[in-house]
Amino acid sequence: MTTQRRRLRVTGTVQGVGFRPFVYRHAVALGLSGYVANDSEGVLVEVEGTPEQLDELSHRLAEEPPPLARVATLETISLPATGGESGFRIVESRSERAPAVAVSVDVATCDDCLAELIDPADRRYGYPFTNCTNCGPRYTIIRSIPYDRPATTMAGFPMCEACAAEYADPGDRRFHAQPNACPACGPQLRLLGVDGRVVAEEGEALDGAVKALLAGRILAVKGLGGYHLAADASDAGAVAELRRRKHRDAKPFAVMVPNLDAARALCRLSSDAGAALTSLRRPIVLARRHPDADGVADGVAPGLPELGLMLPYTPLHHLLLAGVGRPLVMTSGNLSDEPIAHTDDDAVTRLGPLVDATLAHDRPIHIRADDSVVRARPNGHTQMVRRSRGFAPEPLPLPQPARRQVLAVGAELKNTVAVAKDANVVASHHIGDLEHLAAHRSFLQATEHLCHLTGVDPEVVAHDLHPEYLSTKYALELDLPTVGVQHHHAHVASCLVEHGRTEPVLGIAFDGLGLGTDGTLWGGEFLVADLRGFRRVGHLRQLPLPGGARAIREPWRMALAWAHAALGPEAAARYGESADERWRSVLALLERPETPVTSSAGRLFDAVAALLGLRPRTTYEGQAAIELEAAAADLELDAVAPYPASIEGDADLLVIDPSPLIARVVAERDQGTPVAAISAGFHAGLGRTAAEAAAELAGRHGLDTVALSGGVFQNTRLTDVVVDACQEAGLSVLVHQHVPPNDGGISIGQAAVAALSD
Ligand code: ZN
Ligand code: ZN
Ligand code: FE
Repeated sequence: MTTQRRRLRVTGTVQGVGFRPFVYRHAVALGLSGYVANDSEGVLVEVEGTPEQLDELSHRLAEEPPPLARVATLETISLPATGGESGFRIVESRSERAPAVAVSVDVATCDDCLAELIDPADRRYGYPFTNCTNCGPRYTIIRSIPYDRPATTMAGFPMCEACAAEYADPGDRRFHAQPNACPACGPQLRLLGVDGRVVAEEGEALDGAVKALLAGRILAVKGLGGYHLAADASDAGAVAELRRRKHRDAKPFAVMVPNLDAARALCRLSSDAGAALTSLRRPIVLARRHPDADGVADGVAPGLPELGLMLPYTPLHHLLLAGVGRPLVMTSGNLSDEPIAHTDDDAVTRLGPLVDATLAHDRPIHIRADDSVVRARPNGHTQMVRRSRGFAPEPLPLPQPARRQVLAVGAELKNTVAVAKDANVVASHHIGDLEHLAAHRSFLQATEHLCHLTGVDPEVVAHDLHPEYLSTKYALELDLPTVGVQHHHAHVASCLVEHGRTEPVLGIAFDGLGLGTDGTLWGGEFLVADLRGFRRVGHLRQLPLPGGARAIREPWRMALAWAHAALGPEAAARYGESADERWRSVLALLERPETPVTSSAGRLFDAVAALLGLRPRTTYEGQAAIELEAAAADLELDAVAPYPASIEGDADLLVIDPSPLIARVVAERDQGTPVAAISAGFHAGLGRTAAEAAAELAGRHGLDTVALSGGVFQNTRLTDVVVDACQEAGLSVLVHQHVPPNDGGISIGQAAVAALSD
């Protein structure tokens, strides 16, 4: 029988995910000799055996990799057989060159570890830091690479003999599991009182936390990527108290439930939503709640038809939920919109005043990572809202190889940063709103860490055109060539990246505000765009933005602006008088030529919400639009005939004028039409008109595909209307699934544009 030798080079997410033991097991089972090693490019295998055996090994590596691995490429080279080797070995890491290895995401506790957790005979029974090669912390504990224990925050926990034996045994589930630990050698729980002093340890700490939660207390709980604030979700008093202490009036809280059945008891879950909920990434899933479901206090998501649910993703969460036996509010450990607390000192300083006790542990978190959030679309895939823990820093493939190494610094709100190199773009965790000083510090750390982990030495830095964004200022201070990427081009580009699309599309970017190339604020844009460039071919009618940033927090101002534009000063005055005593000065602003103008779709939603009396002032970004969408939640998409809007403009630039929509909204309101119906008519009208404009523009420019992006497309009702209407017009539609349509996706679009443009 002929013997052959082959070298297999595997790239992708193949380190820290149990890839070498996986290769070892299969090679041994197939009777092959040779070795497997990690190196700076991924995993290297040399094997000797019959061609059939070798083919079978390659097949298994490509087709059935371990759950956390993502094989990007598998290359095979034939070598002369040596014939002298016996057996198969795992060779220690050898990494001298610049790292190019993808770091794994943090992963929810696997079934094998869970079984140990609840087995009284197991040495890890009830141990809250149980993990293995298939699960546990990764991104949040890595200080540098190569990914080995000394380079993680587990460096301070030398393994006991039993753990070390598992770690060294290629046949063990914990072979080279860097965070491997047990009660004898690993991190320990502790419960801190109000003054920050330890009041209980280990099992007693857990018991104390459970008792406190059941008594309606508010706890800080240290998790994987940061601290949560936890409270009994069924206890209206505890939930109200949490809102008071966190200074959060209305923004919904996420709820952790023990398992899928408990989730189904609260919410209607599509198969996609259920899959997301139970996935190893464990995001928060926004799903429609059953109207009569109890068990969660109204104050958790006041007035909203959806609930944000997640399942436990660390052993500690499993133990806590099992102990409490009720759903728990688990909201980011921060005050309002600051970054989530992730260091112990920070937790004591910032969260101490908010909580009655803190359930902490002594495994440091190196990089904070908030919970990710996806939204279940009733008729389609889940859609990413916040891409963070469980997703960062997983690479997204670029549709074409990067021409240069890029750092992209993102926008201002919901900031993320990203790097592009070779075949991939890698985005950071959610950093937050850069207007906060703490977020700015977090931004600097994330930028440096991401470049380090990915081995990117940026040749250019990509940034937003807005000169006042802290991210832009940072980019311009670096000693690097810069590429300014227009905000809505970046939105559309991020959608193209996720669909691997290189040909031009007609992009619809419906958004809050972003600076345009003409110096005005855009946000309702139709762009002919690819990853290299774009041309603006249409937009929503521009009108004044009275009061700048205040117009964002106070939708009544936009309502006045739209009433003025659509119905004249008298109608505006009639609305203004009922909305705010400052209406006169805002009306004056509207008539001043120097007031900035905007074509923002987000501000149009604000205006309608305010005209309907839903939300004259907001307490969080997007609140008015979210409540406007929620108002129509019980109505089918076509329950109300679309309200009209007009399409104007010329051969170069289409302009959608929503004035007729506004007029109709006001007229229906005055007739006493239910808000739900008005909301449905508005969504249908705006969505249908946008699709009509898109079809016209696609025809003009010879395009067959529309891409939807921008924060407004978090609105699943609007998305569904536009998708249906575009498809009826014979167009293909790209919508976001893995990348957020909001500003969290901007860095990905910027990175791609800067990496691929000439
Ligand atoms: Zn495990
Ligand atoms: Zn141990
Ligand atoms: Fe945006």
